[in-house]
Amino acid sequence: MTPSTTLSGDLFDRARRVIPSGVNSPVRAFGSVGGTPPFLTSAKGALLTDADGNEYVDLVGSWGPMILGHAHDGVVEAVREAAGRGLSFGAPQAGEVSLVEEVVRRIGPVQQLRLVNSGTEATMSALRVARAATSRDVVVKFAGCYHGHVDALLAEAGSGVATFAMPGSAGVTASTARDTVVLPYGDREAVTALFAERGDEIAAVITEAAPANMGVVPPREQDGTGFNRFLAETAHAAGALLISDEVLTGFRAGKEGYYGIDGDGWAPDLMTFGKVIGGGLPVGAFGGREDLMALLAPSGPVYQAGTLSGNPLATAAGLATFAGLDDAAYRVLDEASVALRGLVADALTTAGVPHVIQTAGTLFSVFFRDAPVETYEDAKAQDTEAFTRFFHAMLDGGVYLPPSAFEAWFVSTAHTPAVLDRIAEVLPVAARAAA
Ligand code: PLP
Repeated sequence: MTPSTTLSGDLFDRARRVIPSGVNSPVRAFGSVGGTPPFLTSAKGALLTDADGNEYVDLVGSWGPMILGHAHDGVVEAVREAAGRGLSFGAPQAGEVSLVEEVVRRIGPVQQLRLVNSGTEATMSALRVARAATSRDVVVKFAGCYHGHVDALLAEAGSGVATFAMPGSAGVTASTARDTVVLPYGDREAVTALFAERGDEIAAVITEAAPANMGVVPPREQDGTGFNRFLAETAHAAGALLISDEVLTGFRAGKEGYYGIDGDGWAPDLMTFGKVIGGGLPVGAFGGREDLMALLAPSGPVYQAGTLSGNPLATAAGLATFAGLDDAAYRVLDEASVALRGLVADALTTAGVPHVIQTAGTLFSVFFRDAPVETYEDAKAQDTEAFTRFFHAMLDGGVYLPPSAFEAWFVSTAHTPAVLDRIAEVLPVAARAAA
């Protein structure tokens, strides 16, 4: 039975009068799947509750941060305790040092890190450092990768830009667009050819460590060399930098992010983080080689700042999240991810729905097509209508999926076998709806 959405509908009407499309981030509007987005009132563990009192098993996890589940006792207590000591100082505080030390300890190539308030700020700032370090302007990105809504990085971007089939964004100046070159993901020949032609103009290549914003498209090995390593070597040979964006994969794909999975014998120059490191509060970070980070003001010429950067609530939430992310937590995440993938595959196969499930560590997504997805073009060739039918049947059955065929599905340590049983009950119905 379709759950009642009367109160969410009323809120959506109110919202649309004063907020563009009623939302503060595009995919939330359900624009590509249609219908009324549930307005949420609370969340605990793996469960969400909406304004009409409906309960859903959550497979969005606020798009990644809620890796320990919602309202995790340790995280909530840490934030409550920090709040009692002051919400924001705009001055140095111990929590930001501890949070950065945690990242530096886990991620080899990160010698220094600055905290910001979003992944977008992180990639924007990393780009600025790269351009300053190389005295070059051009940045290379890959189609289907999303790096936040930075002007220079919106061309052929994933996430909401892919969901709404936008080529990029209006409002980006022609000169900014000219300095961005977009290549097909995984296309080594295209990278080599571009560097042969314009290598001395290129400041940096930026890539998601494992793309997850066109669905999950893990980098492929060729002749024993992974794509990320190939990018690092190609960029370095031309005096350019590699920026590895781990805003989504960082501490999610595995304990040391995706770098912990394929970072052997090579290193990006700069890396970006977000989501998990803020435990549900607004945090991003960019960091890497000390000589590059030394370019930042006040000691260096690259200006970057933030009123709320490193604020004590956000760092408390991040630290409490890291405290819960031990080896046992990653085992639970992995088990949940493996089990859920199995359930989805069984249901879709039984119903005869073409699908491919792709993974990057514990991260995964489901493509509604029958061939592997290696590029953005492949991802776009999905049966998005089948996904939409599947999505609504899941929602009606009490499972909240990302409202887009181009997004990863997020599990948490709160996705216990009992929670997965609830998903298992709905899957056969949703798979038949998709067929
Ligand atoms: N980079 C990647 C890989 C992301 O997945 C995202 C967001 O989904 C961003 C950057 C932007 O982060 P934010 O939404 O915090 O600005």
